[in-house]
Amino acid sequence: MARIRLEEVTKTFGDDFAIEGLSFECAEGEFFGLLGPSGAGKTTILNLIAGLEAATAGSIWIGDKRVDGVEPRFRDVACAFENYFLYPHLNVYGNVAFPLRSPIRKHENSESEVKAAVEGIATTLQIDHLLDRKITQLSGGQKQRVALARTLIRTPAAYLLDEAIAHLDAKLRHSIRSVLKGYQQSKGITTVYATPDQLDAVAMCDRLIIIRAGRMEQIGSAEDIYHFPANEFVATYVGYPPMNIFRAELVAEGGMLTVRLDDAELPLAGAMRQAVEDRIKHREVRVGIRPHDIALREDRPAEGLAIAAEIGMVEHYGDFRVVHFRIGGSDVRVRIGAEGAIQTGRKAWLAADPDKFHLFSAADGRTVWPTAPA
Ligand code: ATP
Repeated sequence: MARIRLEEVTKTFGDDFAIEGLSFECAEGEFFGLLGPSGAGKTTILNLIAGLEAATAGSIWIGDKRVDGVEPRFRDVACAFENYFLYPHLNVYGNVAFPLRSPIRKHENSESEVKAAVEGIATTLQIDHLLDRKITQLSGGQKQRVALARTLIRTPAAYLLDEAIAHLDAKLRHSIRSVLKGYQQSKGITTVYATPDQLDAVAMCDRLIIIRAGRMEQIGSAEDIYHFPANEFVATYVGYPPMNIFRAELVAEGGMLTVRLDDAELPLAGAMRQAVEDRIKHREVRVGIRPHDIALREDRPAEGLAIAAEIGMVEHYGDFRVVHFRIGGSDVRVRIGAEGAIQTGRKAWLAADPDKFHLFSAADGRTVWPTAPA
C-alpha cells in the first residue's frame, strides 16, 4: 500500500480543461472517494494516477515516487473500469486468474495458489458459481463483479476503482458495498473509488473529494461534508432528497438581523447572526433547508418558518415519504415518516426552525452558516 498525492494537476483535451489545478493526498490504506456528477473528471483522475493519460501540468506521486512519465505497468496499481474490459477468449476463471498468471507475476504463484486465490475472491464477490462460464454468457452485473474480482485478486500499492459496482441491482450493490469495504480494510490497500453515487461514497469511503468541472469543491469525511458543506453546490449534491434552496433577503432593522423568506421574518441569533454579519455584504442570501428539517402542519406554526402550499406528488420509500411542493417556482421536497394521512391537492403549512438553516452567499454560493469548527 502507498499514499497517493496529486499536486496542482491539470489535464486538458484540446482547449478544454478536464482537470484544473487539482491537489489532494490520499493516505496509506485509506478508502478515498472521488464523488461528482457526470463529466466532472473522475475517470480522468484515475487514468492520470494509473498512467493511462499524461498530465498536462503538475505532479503525481505514488508512495515516495513521482510517477509522471512512469509506464502504467510499473506503477503497481490495479484498476477496475466501468466498461469491464474483460478478455472474451477466456472464461470467468481465466479472467480472474489473469493478473496472477501475467508474464511479470506468474513465477510468484503456483497453479494451486492461483486456484485458491480465484476461488476466494469469487466467493467474496458471489460469483463462485460462474467460474466456468464464458464472458458472453454473463449479465452486466456479473461481468462487473468478474472485473472487480480480477482487480482485487492482486495485492498492489493501490486499487483504482471506477464506478466498480454501478451495474449491480440495489440489493446486491448494498451487500457488495460492505464486502468491498471489509475486503479493503482487511488488506489495508489504498483505494481510490470514483462514483457519481453519494450512497456508494458515503457507505465506503473514509474521506472523499467532491469534484465539479475538474475542480475540487470540498474534501473531508462524508459526515463533515454533509453537515458543513462548503458551498451550495456541495450542499445540494450530498444528501437525499437534495437540500431545498430558497431565495431570501437579509434585513437589518432596529438592532435586529432577520431573514425575510416568503412572508416570514425570521430573526437570527447567537453565532449564526455573528457569522452572517461578518460575512454577508449583500442583502440577498440563499437559505438551504434539508428535507427532513421541514415539518408539515395543518395549522399555521406559531414560530419559525411558515409557508402555506399545496401538497404535490408523494413518493413512498417504505419507512419514509417525500412530499413535493411548488413554492416560488421551485420544487421543494419534504421528508416525512411513513405514518399519517397525506393527500395531494390539500393545503399544508411547511414549518422549519431557523437554527437548522444553511445560509449561502447569493453572490458566490459559498457557505456563510454553518461552517466547520476550526
Ligand atoms: P462520468 O461519471 O460520466 O464517467 P467523469 O467524471 O468520469 O464522468 P471524465 O470521463 O473524466 O468525467 O471526463 C471529464 C471531462 O473530460 C469531460 O468533459 C469529458 O468530455 C472530457 N474528456 C474525457 N476524456 C476525453 C478525451 N479522451 N478527449 C476529449 N475529452 C475528454
